[in-house]
Amino acid sequence: MDAPDPEVVADAFDLLSDPLRVRILTTLWEEDRRGPTSYSDLQDAVGVRDSGRFNYHLSQLTDRYLRKTDEGYAMRPAGVQVVDLLASGVFGEIPERGPVDLETTCPRCSADLELEYRDGETVVECPDCELIACWLLFPPAGVRDRDDESLAWGAHVRSREYNRMANAGLCPFCSREIAIELVHPDEVPLDGHHVLKRCAGCEARLWSSLGSYLLDHPAVVAFLWDHGESVDDHPYWAFDFVMDPAVELLSEDPVHYRQTIERDGERLEVEVAPDGEVVTTRRVRGDA
Ligand SMILES: [Zn+2]
Ligand SMILES: [Zn+2]
Repeated sequence: MDAPDPEVVADAFDLLSDPLRVRILTTLWEEDRRGPTSYSDLQDAVGVRDSGRFNYHLSQLTDRYLRKTDEGYAMRPAGVQVVDLLASGVFGEIPERGPVDLETTCPRCSADLELEYRDGETVVECPDCELIACWLLFPPAGVRDRDDESLAWGAHVRSREYNRMANAGLCPFCSREIAIELVHPDEVPLDGHHVLKRCAGCEARLWSSLGSYLLDHPAVVAFLWDHGESVDDHPYWAFDFVMDPAVELLSEDPVHYRQTIERDGERLEVEVAPDGEVVTTRRVRGDA
């Protein structure tokens, strides 16, 4: 992984190694909404009377997590990212949920897909054939206040956003460039996931089915729209073609696939090249 020097990282985490520093950071974040915060306002807001102690811990955070300006103290990017991490709830108790019946039929068998939240991840899978339709990290803070339906919708939206960014070549985790490739069915680690988006910087790997990869392609959006559907009508795994077992392998080396979507006697065929480019789209009526 293209990461900074471990010594630098260890020093940065060391600067957070006191509960008061964490409180100063989260308090400044709250105060920061109104612009830089003066030393005395920050001390009052944190509620520490001992100026020497407050000053010492504040100075430890300064430059790395926050900065001192003529108008007062303000957050730095590392401080904001730490606060985001705290807000995500990963350091609190991790809730458990499910398995919950999603009342959506598995595209491979007749069972209903189930949603489960376990160890910080949302998983949508079939209890019978074990097909996995969605599997991603989901902040625990976003789980507690959601009912099952809202959690499923949240997993859909989060997964779609990650994939939209990755499909556009931007790693959703580190913002470096991400490369797209089609993978041969014999080499996919997750059944039905034929598209790999790989970041050479942070080593992120996002796997999609061809159907979910194509969900934002204009030809797919227009085809569904013409048949009275919108791509965000329901979670993506509820589309019959998204985990389609009938994705056609057009050539082995390099790998080309064809995705077919059928609605009301009309077929949309989308051919995809090894680098994820859509090569051709074709609408066919009836048995043509
Ligand atoms: Zn199944
Ligand atoms: Zn990355």
